[in-house]
Amino acid sequence: MSRKSAVSDILKQKIKGLKCRECGKLYPPVALHVCEFCFGPLEVDYNYDEIRRHISRERIENGPKSLWRYADLLPVEGPPTVGLYAGFTPLIEAKNLGAELGLKKLYIKNDTVNHPTLSFKDRVVAIAITRAMELGFTAVACASTGNLANSVAAHAAEARLRCYVFIPGDLEAGKILGSLIYAPTIVAVEGNYDDVNRLCSEVAGEYDWAFVNINIRPYYAEGSKTLAFETAEQLGWKAPDHVVVPVASGSLLTKIWKGFNELKMLGLIDRVDMRVSGAQAEGCAPVASAFKEGRDFIRPVKPKTIAKSIAIGNPADGYYALKAVHESKGAFETATDEETVEGIKLLARTEGIFAETAGGVTIAVLKKLAQKGIISKEETVVAYVTGNGLKTQEAVINAVDEVVRIDPSLDSF
Ligand SMILES: *Cc1c(COP(=O)(O)O)cnc(C)c1O
Ligand SMILES: [Zn+2]
Repeated sequence: MSRKSAVSDILKQKIKGLKCRECGKLYPPVALHVCEFCFGPLEVDYNYDEIRRHISRERIENGPKSLWRYADLLPVEGPPTVGLYAGFTPLIEAKNLGAELGLKKLYIKNDTVNHPTLSFKDRVVAIAITRAMELGFTAVACASTGNLANSVAAHAAEARLRCYVFIPGDLEAGKILGSLIYAPTIVAVEGNYDDVNRLCSEVAGEYDWAFVNINIRPYYAEGSKTLAFETAEQLGWKAPDHVVVPVASGSLLTKIWKGFNELKMLGLIDRVDMRVSGAQAEGCAPVASAFKEGRDFIRPVKPKTIAKSIAIGNPADGYYALKAVHESKGAFETATDEETVEGIKLLARTEGIFAETAGGVTIAVLKKLAQKGIISKEETVVAYVTGNGLKTQEAVINAVDEVVRIDPSLDSF
């Protein structure tokens, strides 16, 4: 497949610009993420009338077997330049896990096998770097809890862009090696993710780099919608009744909700009677706490959890994630480190899927929501498992059985 033919005819007029989520002020579609007037976050503004004229289930189904089949709803103007094979991961009917949890129609959206770096971040990075190249950048960067660094470094290598990734000093070995191998410049900052992010916002102001989750954030964030699009298509063009989504910055959850609603608005699915529930680690649960305490503002926390990929104490989109959960009448739950490890093991034992710590949190929260009756047994449920367990081996290394050691003889056996 040539790069050009991957997406046949991309709509030219679909992006109107950027729009402030708070005051509605419009901006051209450039590398900008904060409103100059009210400091609200900017979001991509689409020309839905133009999109509606072209889009159809058939057009999507005839597209490439990747997230680019939804290019009509993604913020790029030309064909993709990187990440051609991202997305379109399996939606697995989890009969065994469902039986254990008492859920009749449970599905796992398995982004542990996303291409090329085995987490959902390959979706957002495919969009962000394609857009960054359209905007003329020759260097890309990110502030990362690990998976984003892996994905940005891999895609930058493929696109031959200079790459700078900033990570907290205490990341898992698998996440560090998973970036280093692509030979970017890696800066490990003595501090947590929130310190890294603050530093990167300052660096972004000084250097002409495309920080995928800072100045390119409006485009980056749209990539998460593809998890909703694929789920709907894989369920036969239907929204599920309940989804469970891990929350770090809150962008993924916010955009999954937006994605299903966009499909409905364009007539690609009939309705969205769906509840969206959020999963956070107990040691870093600023959004879940706001939900449980009935607050509409997020109080930042200092993260202390093994689920490092979702350890963001001051989440940029926490407020919007909370709003989406309220709008959809969903809920929030948290998982302790111990429950997270149990969640990883439960998913592996029942479905043969080895997820990272964020997946453990999601499965542990799914279990709690089912036990509390917040998810009921007849509902169609989708749990988003967003990263691969081979990257966070230290979380489970002491929680598995030892091998049986023998001499190479039948006697010994
Ligand atoms: C980044 C990440 C998330 C959540 O991302 P946000 O959009 O920041 O909420 C979830 N799971 C994994 C494995 C991640 O790496
Ligand atoms: Zn504004």
